[in-house]
Amino acid sequence: MATPSDVRENLRNILSAIQATRNAFPTVNASQARPLQPRAQPQAPISLPTKFNAAFAAVNSLEELISRPSTQEAFIAAQKLPPAPPKVAMKRKRSPVENTASLSTKRPSIHRAEISNVNAFPTTTSSGITIEDQETLEKFVRHVNAQGVVRLHFWSRSKINHQHTDGPQIAKPRYLRLTIPDLLVAYLDIAERQGGKKGYQVLLVTIFGARERKLPHCATDFSVFVKISQYLTSVLQNHPDADIPTMVDLLSSYRELYTEPCMVCGSCWSMEGDLPPVQRLWVPSQESGEQGHWMPRHYLCART
Ligand SMILES: [Zn+2]
Repeated sequence: MATPSDVRENLRNILSAIQATRNAFPTVNASQARPLQPRAQPQAPISLPTKFNAAFAAVNSLEELISRPSTQEAFIAAQKLPPAPPKVAMKRKRSPVENTASLSTKRPSIHRAEISNVNAFPTTTSSGITIEDQETLEKFVRHVNAQGVVRLHFWSRSKINHQHTDGPQIAKPRYLRLTIPDLLVAYLDIAERQGGKKGYQVLLVTIFGARERKLPHCATDFSVFVKISQYLTSVLQNHPDADIPTMVDLLSSYRELYTEPCMVCGSCWSMEGDLPPVQRLWVPSQESGEQGHWMPRHYLCART
């Protein structure tokens, strides 16, 4: 007999498979992101079977997954589940990874009345590391990588900088590259704070699909990552003092982009636009020892 958490896990797997299938159609996603651009003429005739091999394979594996008895049981069981799980049921045992930071986003959906109490952004960060210089920044990067939820690296476009430095001094990083495996890559454009302040400022964040090999100033082919980049730009405009740990924490919450439902409508996909909830709002925690968590919201649901 499958437990509700088994059922949810099964449904999450199905959602991931659907998303993988969706991503396997590059021309569809590209045309959504750039509707007005004429299609480039191919140099040589493209072999259709080869071009769509990945798409056909993804559809086949999705079909196989859906026809499994365990999936069918999950669908039937899901219809009997209550729409919102009671809070007690969600107090599951946490993994060590989730205990180490406020990276966890698995929360019960909150009710409409609670939304008015939401602070869109945290006032303090919970990493326990204050980034003042290159050394503390490197320490923070190691701290994040040790948690194993996302991967963080320094990324610099110019290799010339490195050749001109003397001794062990490394050229100042221009970008931090954050990777959520199999989902997305985020470039954080960082700069030292001005006016005698210590630490770094996050100037811009741009998001790409995990398999897109593009430079930070390029545009992604995926409309969902365009929307996230746009949202993060508005976040940084409203909170120019947002520090690196806060932005890394926010970005880490996107690892559940396709599985964590919207805090307003409770669904993973919006009726219009066919997008998952791309916004993240900071909800301070009522529990002691926990600062808060990022709640997903559709950009369309933000207007309701
Ligand atoms: Zn919604």
